[in-house]
Amino acid sequence: MTVTDFKKIAQRRQDILASMKRAQALSGRTEAVTLVAVSKVQPYARIESALAAGQRVFGENRVQDAQARWTGHRQVYPDLHLHLVGPLQTNKTEDAVLLFDTIETLDRPKLAQAIAKAMAKTGRRPDIFIQVNTGEEPQKAGVLPDGLPDLIALAKELNLPVRGLMCIPPVEDPAGPHFALLARLAKGHDLVNLSMGMSGDYETAIRFGATHVRVGSAFFGERVVGQV
Ligand SMILES: *Cc1c(COP(=O)(O)O)cnc(C)c1O
Repeated sequence: MTVTDFKKIAQRRQDILASMKRAQALSGRTEAVTLVAVSKVQPYARIESALAAGQRVFGENRVQDAQARWTGHRQVYPDLHLHLVGPLQTNKTEDAVLLFDTIETLDRPKLAQAIAKAMAKTGRRPDIFIQVNTGEEPQKAGVLPDGLPDLIALAKELNLPVRGLMCIPPVEDPAGPHFALLARLAKGHDLVNLSMGMSGDYETAIRFGATHVRVGSAFFGERVVGQV
């Protein structure tokens, strides 16, 4: 960690928190909005800087990368809170349940079963968000809006701690209508939390009711592919 790195990241963090507050004030919301700093593929020095600046909530998109990076940190940072924001394969479920505090990407019945099993085995119960494919994109993860009621019913049957919904709008669409749809779906199912909004649109997401924004490059700087 260099002093310049630290100053840059501490400043960006302050700026993002300030614009989150502004967006919140504009929409007349008072409840807390959590900044999830998405640290996937960022050089470790930047994560050290973020920790030094006081950031404690981080998002990762791959279980193995996150294990390599975060194992052992809880002794030093007991208030660390890790979110899985990338797709989860059933064979990685137990590792994910052991490492993460929130899993944002439940999107299919088989995964719900695997998570329930891993929770029973490990005794850990991370919060679960269901990822919704609001743009109905064939290549994208997430349950289709039509499939959401059945998946929620199954999750309830399995006694999963489902706390909210998450979406990643199609890059080519304005995000607003997707955020509005996710908010409507959550309300219809009495789910309080909404994980939506990234570097380019987190202020918009807050105006539509986001409780969690997932900000990567605007927080850490551009991702450096190939570095750990
Ligand atoms: C990478 C990623 C982000 C952060 O993206 P930025 O545009 O860099 O803010 C947010 N959410 C998910 C699911 C991601 O994979």
